[in-house]
Amino acid sequence: MRNRFYMVNSIAVFCGSGDGFNDVYREAAWQLGEMLAEKEIGLVYGGAKIGLMGAVADGVLDKNGKVTGVIPSFLQTKELVHESISELVLVENMHERKLKMHELSDAVITLPGGWGTMDELFEMLTWAQLGLHKKPIGLLNINGYYDSLKVLFNNMVLEGFLDECVNNILLISESVEELLDMINNYEAPDLPVVISKQTT
Ligand code: AMP
Repeated sequence: MRNRFYMVNSIAVFCGSGDGFNDVYREAAWQLGEMLAEKEIGLVYGGAKIGLMGAVADGVLDKNGKVTGVIPSFLQTKELVHESISELVLVENMHERKLKMHELSDAVITLPGGWGTMDELFEMLTWAQLGLHKKPIGLLNINGYYDSLKVLFNNMVLEGFLDECVNNILLISESVEELLDMINNYEAPDLPVVISKQTT
């Protein structure tokens, strides 16, 4: 029996600590924040006020939604903690931050970002691949930002390094509204067994 209609009360958003050169990124991050608040879904994010991180939090706060920031103590100054958020969780290091964000959320949305964002997305994807969680993971492909990543994933399938069914875990859309619908209607697939009794 598959998990039907995942109950989503809070979403972890991974995104850039920069704004990008095109205003569409900041606008989409803000719009996502507003939509989360309107749907009464709490935001869990990195706790900073810079870049797209700040934009998504401000979008939520503008509509009186709930924002939980998770930040390692050593990054408090570098990433400039957002003072207006509902709750700030201080953690020891980057590993703990990802784990805490995972614990506090029911789903993930990834916006455009750099290596930090990729690290966070890939950790959630690989945990899902190993069957450690069944949460929906979404990728908001604003302005075709992730087109090349989609090509890379398809090549991984074609060349035999990624199972097609595992690749389908990642929900991709160019629209905030559509991605939230996909997350709400997500059914976790039955994944191929990667570790068998014989191999352990
Ligand atoms: P970036 O996409 O590089 O702008 O980074 C976005 C977020 O990812 C920021 O909050 C960074 O602190 C965070 N980040 C950067 N490197 C890592 C890492 N190795 N592990 C986890 N998070 C990271």
